Amino acid sequence: MKDCRNGCSAAEAGSQELAETFKAEDLVITPATVLKEKPDPDSLVFGTVFTDHMLEVQWSAESGWEKPHIKPFETLSLHPAASALHYAVQLFEGLKAFRGVDNKIRLFRPDLNMSRMCRSAVRATLPMFDQGELLECIQRLVLVDQEWVPYSPSASLYIRPTFVGIEPSLGVKKPTKALLYVILSPVGPYFSSGTFKPVSLWANPKYVRAWEGGTGDCKMGGNYGSSLLAQCEALESGCQQVLWLYGKDHQITEVGTMNLFLYWTNEDGEEELATPPLDGIILPGVTRQCILELARKWGEFKVTERYLTMEHVQAALEGGRVKEMFGSGTACVVCPVSDILFQGQKLHIPTMENGSRLASRILGKLTDIQYGREESDWTIIIS
Ligand SMILES: *Cc1c(COP(=O)(O)O)cnc(C)c1O
Repeated sequence: MKDCRNGCSAAEAGSQELAETFKAEDLVITPATVLKEKPDPDSLVFGTVFTDHMLEVQWSAESGWEKPHIKPFETLSLHPAASALHYAVQLFEGLKAFRGVDNKIRLFRPDLNMSRMCRSAVRATLPMFDQGELLECIQRLVLVDQEWVPYSPSASLYIRPTFVGIEPSLGVKKPTKALLYVILSPVGPYFSSGTFKPVSLWANPKYVRAWEGGTGDCKMGGNYGSSLLAQCEALESGCQQVLWLYGKDHQITEVGTMNLFLYWTNEDGEEELATPPLDGIILPGVTRQCILELARKWGEFKVTERYLTMEHVQAALEGGRVKEMFGSGTACVVCPVSDILFQGQKLHIPTMENGSRLASRILGKLTDIQYGREESDWTIIIS
């Protein structure tokens, strides 16, 4: 597997004896003695219920990686000066395990989450590890808690790899101690009634999610804590999510914690599916990449990574050229947009009136693959 080693840590590692990665073959498994009761998948609130086990791997600059450990789910004990708590030396990932119609458990393109995690680790000055070894450990963890993968064609097991700097010092510096852990949480259907519920968006340039040279293209915790006030204002304004704008020309970038797609007839009269390019302020979503790859393979309309501004959207709405707008992410796959509140005006996006046809088609295709109704090399089968 590709090793996106942080040059700086490699130089400092010096001694050859340091474990430069942990290995799945070294896994120590301590089974839980008391197992929790499993919840009804339909009544789950996202991220509130956790399984019986977790994976933990310790790292220190002194001795490198320890053996990975699958152990009973438990509270962490951290030094109060731990750098993750003070300076957000932290990152996370989010992916899912699905129980297919054939009862097999699948992961969906987990290699993309592993490589994104490595990119975030470089940005956070956290130590490198072998992506394949982590993926192997995660598969073992899911296997240990396999009964927690819901027996449901709309629920799944959310996997949350987390990597934190635990330097026990208030110095603002690259941590010499780190902890990588993975927890699992069963999650219910995103759209509980089984039908799309579109969201209304609050677009206000007073808050910025990400900027060039920043960390918006990494899944680092600080990006999300600092977005909550904007989310609160969106709710106060009667909207459900934030449409993150950027720059003087009000580029549209992402929605909440999702990537954004516009399906429209563009300025040149071409039918186009467009999403902003990965220029450093966009989180490179796995779902985003899947949608681009699928739509390009279908070859039925133009598929473009391009800048889109509020002005583009307003002009297209006036010209009746907007077909659909939707967010994309692991939680929902796709989430239709119905309205944008911008400069005191409510702009109606006719996604639902157009039957959210493209969004539905994408949702159908990706969930068919995830739940094993369609075979694809985008999934790996566990067990
Ligand atoms: C996680 C995330 C996404 C979606 O990424 P997926 O890999 O598709 O789940 C999009 N935007 C932000 C800001 C995110 O954190």
